[in-house]
Amino acid sequence: MDGVSRLLAGTTALVMGVANRWSIAWAVARAFSREGARVIFTFQGARQEKDVHGLAGTLPGSLVFPCDVTRDADLEKLAEAVRNEAGGVDTVLHSIAFANRDDLSGAFVNTSRAGFALALETSTFSLVAVARHLLPVLKPGASLTTLTYIGATRVMPNYNVMGVAKAALEASVRYLACDLGPQGFRVNAISAGPIKTASARAVQGFGRILEVMEQRAPLRRNTDPEEVADAAVFLASPLARGVTGEVLFVDCGFHATGL
Ligand code: NAD
Repeated sequence: MDGVSRLLAGTTALVMGVANRWSIAWAVARAFSREGARVIFTFQGARQEKDVHGLAGTLPGSLVFPCDVTRDADLEKLAEAVRNEAGGVDTVLHSIAFANRDDLSGAFVNTSRAGFALALETSTFSLVAVARHLLPVLKPGASLTTLTYIGATRVMPNYNVMGVAKAALEASVRYLACDLGPQGFRVNAISAGPIKTASARAVQGFGRILEVMEQRAPLRRNTDPEEVADAAVFLASPLARGVTGEVLFVDCGFHATGL
């Protein structure tokens, strides 16, 4: 990209949610790096440490810290590390969700109390917790972007409790955008089309969702993680300086279709 201005030159990006090379967050991290950002990665636990270090090592200047978003102590340590090692962040990608496999099949009415709480805690409240803990280390004009899915507003087979979590996530984006806007910070979501990742495979019948998408989406194909990543670059960049509280669909137009 020599001689071409890069959209995120000189910035620092925090990317939360890389588990492996299929993760949407990994495509975003590569796009952020391509556009000149230094990327800080987090990983969820010891099982991911080696893989995330391996991936991060391929991007120049990257840093890696542990963080389980359900633990305040981890988030506190992360904010401290970000301040000490990078002097703050310009953009944060929250690409995190979890629900028990049992709650991603069958009837939604059977969701357990504990399963509901776990899905909402990990997939929704975590955005609020990340925003609150990182607020003191956000640089002027910083942005937060999260990942959502159309199951937030329409019933998708077996998506169940995760649809409810995404609905609450999208509402949280709007509330956070209003809270943080006066300080010049932006908060947005990308609603991605279905993509084959470890999390997506946990939803029973996910293959069928991919097939229907290909048949019905206006662009007649499935969503590529790279195009989600490019939208994340846009939202993190000054080109989106007037965009906040938004849910941006990157789903080959599926959301616009009727029958
Ligand atoms: P993925 O499994 O690669 O990523 C999910 C990430 O969440 C993993 O890195 C996992 O470690 C992390 N995570 C879960 N619990 C955590 C915790 N307690 N602390 C820290 N991290 C935790 O799958 P993905 O598809 O790349 O998912 C990323 C995001 O994109 C999710 O929010 C998902 O709902 C959303 N999304 C995915 C699709 C799709 O079809 N794949 C479509 C729309 C939205």
